[in-house]
Amino acid sequence: MISARLNALSPSETLAMSQKSAELKAQGVDVINLSVGEPDFFTPEHIKQAAKDAVDNNFSFYSPVPGYMDLRKAISEKLQRENNLTYAPEQIVVSNGAKQSVCNVVMCVVDKDDEVIIPTPAWVSYVEMVKLAEGKSVLVPAGIEQDFKITAAQLEEAITPKTKAIILCSPSNPTGSVYTKEELEALAAVLAKYPRIVIIADEIYEHINYIGKHESIAQFPEIADRVAVINGVSKAYAMTGWRIGFVAAPLWLAKACNKLQGQYTSGPSSIAQKASVAAFAGPQDCVEEMRKAFERRRNLVVELAKEIPGFEVNVPQGAFYLFPKVSSFFGKSDGERTINDAVDLAMYLLEVGHVATVGGKAFGAPEYLRFSYATSDENIVEAMRRIKDTLARLK
Ligand code: PMP
Ligand code: GLU
Repeated sequence: MISARLNALSPSETLAMSQKSAELKAQGVDVINLSVGEPDFFTPEHIKQAAKDAVDNNFSFYSPVPGYMDLRKAISEKLQRENNLTYAPEQIVVSNGAKQSVCNVVMCVVDKDDEVIIPTPAWVSYVEMVKLAEGKSVLVPAGIEQDFKITAAQLEEAITPKTKAIILCSPSNPTGSVYTKEELEALAAVLAKYPRIVIIADEIYEHINYIGKHESIAQFPEIADRVAVINGVSKAYAMTGWRIGFVAAPLWLAKACNKLQGQYTSGPSSIAQKASVAAFAGPQDCVEEMRKAFERRRNLVVELAKEIPGFEVNVPQGAFYLFPKVSSFFGKSDGERTINDAVDLAMYLLEVGHVATVGGKAFGAPEYLRFSYATSDENIVEAMRRIKDTLARLK
């Protein structure tokens, strides 16, 4: 009954681990959830107020398919102000989260058997979106020894006449790595030679950056006319549940996303759009406050993880994930259970240590484990203590 297309799809591992953790919690087990990646803060007051006002002012009708004009204007101004990128509101399409924005672009440009380059470790959904479009993912691995970032030479080697797109994520989920301007420039120089390739730049973690100014690959004029910048309100404004993301793209691509969305979902929630106008156009100090909290937690989690024997840890420069290499535990046992891979290890940590993480396999990096440290300092300290004690049982 189910289509082959859907049968080929894997469920989202991040959401699945989060669900498992919630189930254990419902049974009364005291689980610390470091699996799903979402800010633990509440949405700032002025944004919530804008949503309440939108309800009172009867913003209850369908919005234009690509989003309200005032929101697209606020996004256009944000891109100019913060990123020095010029996009007219007509080049912006607002969707139900950055997830839909990425998927829209993939569906709009990828044909059957087209290749899409995905540097790994990569967020779980990219490969699945390419599968939905019946394309082929070409994974380009970058391990901890190269700080999880691909080089220009690796990119060039992966390009074939069938390459249609590349999906770049910086700051990265799941590694926290951030490409520097020079590194992006080197990648752009390669891509400039291949005018058929669309560059999907997922910048949803833009504001969760510990090394300074965010750099977008869209800033390089030689490729700018085929870059799709993806961003949204989920991470910067603690608005994951509001479901607002956007793509800023060349007009032909924005029009295609609009057409797809018009037959598929229509414009996103009118209330959430009005709240997002307040997010982009309102005061920005909330963003910096949350960023600072994430930085403090980053420092804490790195310090504690470095004390865990068997973990190989780098210092993530953005997002809110730690991605230690854990392959030294493979083949070890506590006498009853043997750990064969990182998925086993994640299950062991959940069931024995009561800490939910995500095995690296779903990110295309089976030797690693992902922790989201978007939680309180107390939870981080307690979770790392539990992990250390639980892993010490493995010989
Ligand atoms: N891209 C990356 C790399 C993410 O981690 C997420 C969070 N799930 C998204 C996109 C989607 O974000 P949103 O909640 O806006 O759909
Ligand atoms: N970005 C989050 C994560 O990676 C949200 C879950 C998801 O959509 O995958 O955990």
